[in-house]
Amino acid sequence: MSADSAAPAPNPAPRPAALGLTRAEWRALAVEWDCSPRHADSIWAEIYLRGRRAPADMTAHDLLPPRFLARAAAELDWTRPTVARETRSSDGFTRKYLLALADGHRIETVLMRYQGRTTACVSSQVGCAMGCVFCATGQMGYVRHLTTAEIVAQVLHVADVLRDTASDAPALAEPSHASPHHRHERLRNIVFMGMGEPLHNYDAVMHAIDVVRDSAGLALAAQKISVSTVGVAPGIRRLADERRPIHLAVSLHGATQEERAALVPAARKWKLDELMAACRHYTTTLGRRIFFEWTLIEGQNDGPEQARAVAALLQGMPAQVNLIPLNLTGGYGGAPSRPAAARAFQDVLAAAGIPSTVRQRRGIDIAAGCGQLAVAEAALS
Ligand code: SAH
Ligand code: SF4
Repeated sequence: MSADSAAPAPNPAPRPAALGLTRAEWRALAVEWDCSPRHADSIWAEIYLRGRRAPADMTAHDLLPPRFLARAAAELDWTRPTVARETRSSDGFTRKYLLALADGHRIETVLMRYQGRTTACVSSQVGCAMGCVFCATGQMGYVRHLTTAEIVAQVLHVADVLRDTASDAPALAEPSHASPHHRHERLRNIVFMGMGEPLHNYDAVMHAIDVVRDSAGLALAAQKISVSTVGVAPGIRRLADERRPIHLAVSLHGATQEERAALVPAARKWKLDELMAACRHYTTTLGRRIFFEWTLIEGQNDGPEQARAVAALLQGMPAQVNLIPLNLTGGYGGAPSRPAAARAFQDVLAAAGIPSTVRQRRGIDIAAGCGQLAVAEAALS
């Protein structure tokens, strides 16, 4: 705890967060400061390409003059979450970062590296209000939304880790990565599947996506960014109407209103009919398919009759189903489906022409699997 937090100041206007600005916003700020928009582009490159964390780390030059750096230092908030703990999975492919935010709350960000893919699984909230019965984040309840800057900081952290380890490959060198490509590894995929419901924090999440997509910075392709939602129907419609070119995953888990609501309390607010209507609006407006997520729980939602109900529900819609065998959490007694049940479920979907995958279980030994994030640690803060 710092002295500042012990003696609250008389509420000064908070400084905008440097990582919460798009490049266009940086440029507008530069003009407001009587500087050139090209100064904004230069500071953008310092942050997003060179990993500089504050103006003090940046070397002044023609396109980054001292008076611009001084204003940026004085008028913006450069605080970043700090790494409270790093955990590595025994297979070496997953690293979980427990990040401490400025107010002491903790969130988790996961770096997954397998099959040549580098993916950051990022959080959108501290806790979650949606209360899905099998999810550790849901079990902890809602604490607050993350800001744009806190979301961007997670992505930047993972990008920095990859940049820093590219030159000392042995630190991350599993045998299958001991290839020359390893040295050029950079972050390419983001999934909003960490803590929280991204469409409950729509504006901050979309603003952060705008920042990380910028081609002069982290340059993540929109097609490599997935937002997973519990089924916030108005948010799905908004994504469609704003023509956001990112991927959408919808967590279904039950194919009737009753079965779904038993696992996903938010389904009482956004009923299955309303959700499916929003999904159809999305697929027809954008001409894109939707990924439907289905946590497979033994004896609960993994039988052939449920699979047939999913097939009926998704008939005629461009869709893919991602089956996720349940990860165990302290507050829920269910068990993951057996592989044979998962295969049988897939067979029913395949017979109806619906493609599906069974999610690889990654990072389970460090509790970085879906729905297992940050809960014990959050309780400590
Ligand atoms: N709030 C969003 C995104 C975060 S959860 C959502 O619910 O979609 C990401 C995925 O993990 C969701 O599909 C969610 O249902 C799933 N999940 C949560 N807890 C799980 C658990 N214990 N085992 C398997 N999947 C889980
Ligand atoms: Fe929230 Fe998603 Fe967990 Fe449900 S599964 S409680 S929506 S984080």
